Amino acid sequence: MLKQFGIFIILLCNSFLVFAEPLISSENGLHYFGQLEYFSHEKKLSLEEVRKLEKKAWKTTPLDKASFGFDKQHYWFRLPLKNTFASNTPWLFRSEYPLLDTIDLYLFSGSKLIQEFHSGDKFPFHQRPLDQPDFVFPLSIKNDAEHVIYMHVHTTSSLQLALSMHTESSFWQTIAIENATKAAFYAILLSMIFYNAVIFLIIRERSYLYYVLYLSSFTLFMASIHGWAYKFLWPNSPEIHQLSVVFMIGITICTAAIFTSSYLHLKEISPKLNRVIKTLAIVSIASAFISLFLPYALMIRVNAALAFIAAGIAIFSTIQEWLRTRNREVLIFITAWTTVLIGFLLYSGQKFGFLPVNNLTEHAIEIGAVLESLLLALGLADKINSERKARISTQERMLEIQIKANQELDNKVRERTEELEILNDQLQESSVTDSLTQVKNRHFFDNSFLSEYRRAYREKSWLSLLIMDIDHFKKFNDNHGHQAGDKVLQKVASAIKSAVKRPGDAVSRYGGEEFTVVLPNTPKEGALLIAERIRQTIEKLKIEWQGEMLSVTMSIGLVSRTPSSSEGEATLLKQADDFLYIAKDNGRNQVAYEDNAPSTSINQQN
Ligand code: GH3
Ligand code: MG
Ligand code: MG
Repeated sequence: MLKQFGIFIILLCNSFLVFAEPLISSENGLHYFGQLEYFSHEKKLSLEEVRKLEKKAWKTTPLDKASFGFDKQHYWFRLPLKNTFASNTPWLFRSEYPLLDTIDLYLFSGSKLIQEFHSGDKFPFHQRPLDQPDFVFPLSIKNDAEHVIYMHVHTTSSLQLALSMHTESSFWQTIAIENATKAAFYAILLSMIFYNAVIFLIIRERSYLYYVLYLSSFTLFMASIHGWAYKFLWPNSPEIHQLSVVFMIGITICTAAIFTSSYLHLKEISPKLNRVIKTLAIVSIASAFISLFLPYALMIRVNAALAFIAAGIAIFSTIQEWLRTRNREVLIFITAWTTVLIGFLLYSGQKFGFLPVNNLTEHAIEIGAVLESLLLALGLADKINSERKARISTQERMLEIQIKANQELDNKVRERTEELEILNDQLQESSVTDSLTQVKNRHFFDNSFLSEYRRAYREKSWLSLLIMDIDHFKKFNDNHGHQAGDKVLQKVASAIKSAVKRPGDAVSRYGGEEFTVVLPNTPKEGALLIAERIRQTIEKLKIEWQGEMLSVTMSIGLVSRTPSSSEGEATLLKQADDFLYIAKDNGRNQVAYEDNAPSTSINQQN
């Protein structure tokens, strides 16, 4: 089975070298009699022995299908000819398969040997009768005489004969067209190699490097098959030529596998397939090097089978991959390889007689390979472009995310700051607030009274201070309990607050059941009014406690000044306190203040 595969692939690879012209036509005056006759034997018979063979020892094969696969036997061919052409023009006899090891050609006119050639790719290139990649023999076939060509061929490659007979002018015309086609083919491949190599050097994208390696291997492989590599690259090294085809198959599969893996990002998208492809790359490169030591006939089959397996895996798995991802790069990749496949199919279809012989089918493989290389280059460009786009959009997305995150962070910081400010305010507020009565505390009073005093001094404005003390509160506590006392303190504090209207006026709990009110910008008359209002409010206050309606009264000491430098705020406080005691002394529930008389108090008690 492997052998058949190998032969099939090699025939496919090699068969397109066969030129499809009618072999030896009667139009150009040269007649052939019957079909190509052949005889094979494991030993090389001498020319004499062969000539003596009976007619029935010879088998026949159609001229254009003289193909024998891999056969180590020695083949002899016999071709009887008669030239009915008017002149004795030299004829060029061509065998177009450039990989034959040895060819011995003998031309008989009647029973006389008139020409003899010994050629084949085992010999250095310059030994050839004509400087051509394939084998061309100039024959002098005389007018009207009967001739016979005997040709011995022995080769380790597959044995194919693609024979044609040309007049000199028709030969060079044919060669010119062939060479132009092949030159165009190589020119395109070489320019693709050069172009992609430059791109690789500029953008340093690995896929390009692998693509260049693959294209170079493929080009060298084709040049080896065409015999061009032998003619142009190593004309004096038949040993290299012998190995180049089989070696280059392995290298081409290996580079194609590496390129495939890189182009399709197999490592990321399908690690399993990547392992298969990598194994294939390793096996094929190993096989390429093993080919240098093991027999050609064996290794060409192994490598051809590998090529077949590689192509199968590549096409099968990439189609699967495309069905899964619908990725455009994968599609381009499949299309590219398919063009080569179609090229092979068209060409072999033509060779097997299903398709007509024309320029398309004749050069289908070359066209397929060129289209493939162009498509893959396009695919690479497209891939790089879409990767760049993806990178940019990822960067943009990242940037957006970052901006959003920053905004969120900003908002959070702001919220936290606000919360902290509020907390701080609350803390500050609570540090200056009396917890029981919710008016300002002593600490606040000390600070604010000092600053109000200084301001009034600066601005020469009035400052009034009230100090208030609940009357007989000790007794109240004794009678009703401390809890009742606390409730009274709360009610009294809020009553004082409600009696003081201006925003600058500050009510504080000075201590125990004593309160102060600082009244900036308030002269004595105004302060007196307020003091009296407070006193009356407290007096009227009814506090419910355990079903009883309780009430208290309050004594108030009042001072009003436009502060002068000789006096400090402590003096003012002390004076206010003194007036408070005067109010107490005078009978409580009254306001005592400084009048013309040193101490005056008003008592609104009825
Ligand atoms: P007066 O001022 O009329 O001369 O008599 P008084 O009984 O009010 O005398 P003084 O001002 O010396 O008494 C203060 C009393 O106030 C002592 C205590 O029983 C009471 N007191 C002080 N602080 C508080 C407090 O926070 N809660 C309660 N329930 N009572 C307090
Ligand atoms: Mg007191
Ligand atoms: Mg008191």
